[in-house]
Amino acid sequence: MNRKLAMSLVAMMAAIQVLAGAGAARGQSRPFPTGDVQKTYERLLAKIEKIPLYDNHAHPGFGDDTDVDAMAAPPDESSLYRVRDDNPEFVTAAKALLNYPYDDFKPEHAKWLADKSKAAEAAGGTKYFDEILDKLNIETCLANRAMMPAYLDTKRFHWVFFVDSFFFPFDNTERTSSTPDMGVYVPLQEKMLGRYKKLENVHGLPADLAGYEDFLRRTMADNQKLRGGVAIKFEAAYFRTLYFTDPPRATAEAIYAKYRAGGVPSQEEYRVFQDYIFRVLIDQAEKLNLPVHFHSAVGIGDYFSLRQGNVLNLENVLRDQRYKKVNFVLLHGGWPYYKEAGLLTAVKNVYLDTSFQSEVLYPSQFKEVLKQLITLFPDKMMFGTDAFPFNDALGAEESFWIATYTTRTALAAALAELVCEGALSEEKALELAHLYLHDNAAKLYGEKQ
Ligand SMILES: [Zn+2]
Repeated sequence: MNRKLAMSLVAMMAAIQVLAGAGAARGQSRPFPTGDVQKTYERLLAKIEKIPLYDNHAHPGFGDDTDVDAMAAPPDESSLYRVRDDNPEFVTAAKALLNYPYDDFKPEHAKWLADKSKAAEAAGGTKYFDEILDKLNIETCLANRAMMPAYLDTKRFHWVFFVDSFFFPFDNTERTSSTPDMGVYVPLQEKMLGRYKKLENVHGLPADLAGYEDFLRRTMADNQKLRGGVAIKFEAAYFRTLYFTDPPRATAEAIYAKYRAGGVPSQEEYRVFQDYIFRVLIDQAEKLNLPVHFHSAVGIGDYFSLRQGNVLNLENVLRDQRYKKVNFVLLHGGWPYYKEAGLLTAVKNVYLDTSFQSEVLYPSQFKEVLKQLITLFPDKMMFGTDAFPFNDALGAEESFWIATYTTRTALAAALAELVCEGALSEEKALELAHLYLHDNAAKLYGEKQ
């Protein structure tokens, strides 16, 4: 070995030692935690509980309110274990929120809850649900509903309206009979389209595609201007693939002309027509500056297609340069494909929320999701509940509680592990918690922070 090389090796070794020392002193991640993870968790959780929440997605409402969604659960559907109404955690939720005096949901006991909810509904006013938000420290909640009721305070609950009904103007006999689930979903879309027609004073179907597009654009503009809509929502994954092609207008025009007055379009014709209408809806969302929400996870019902509903089907739309001014939100974070959804938020105008996951996953399972997501694009992920009334007794209140509890504990646990593994400082962890629980959403919807 020549002398010069030996000298530089010595210098290099010294430099490595200095770097290693510095690394140990200030931030070097390790595969195993050191220090007290439980204590760090408790410290973080206490601070996380004080952060007001911005709920990006929920269906707030009383148990007998069918407007909480534009669709409904099919009868006898297989329900995920944690959201079955005999989950004892719902009892804990009812006790915490409403002082429920019983320890189970036996019908004679559950009646106590149903009566309480009926009394609140009969009393009118917006106080009841405002108080639920206050108890859970939820500042703002996006209410994804068919229409808004008078009992939700529009200062706290902002409306996200459905646009899927515009996909179904023709004879839907074939689609309705394809699965038992579609037998429930499609007639409800027809009903929703009928309500929009009534609001816009449209009788039958407009004479040509231009007229139909005008009806669709007016509905969206009026939902925003007159009814306070802040975003649009697609639950398209329930009905069809999330892969949307880009057919020429003339093709859609010909299909419209052929079936406007009757006749059953083939599956292919209907799909192409919907693909075109999808583009019109996105275009109008851009003009009105309305964020676009997609149901992007597995859905309810026994016939939901995981393959068609896979969030990756949206990639061509999300990465389309023509839509770079449209803000897209992947509701439920693509679950179970949450890593794919997380990576799609690399696109500047794409966001995700973790609603629904926060209800169906237990804290230890959801912790793993958050631990992964928060180290991908923490400035693009948002908290959500997907709170939903299950029946007359079990309203949206209890699912708000379950989702907020799960999120706070899972987040504190994920961050505590990352802190104790040397990936984040405690200060940085809390900064990321603020972004996820509140600030990212407040910024996206243009609110003061
Ligand atoms: Zn939902």
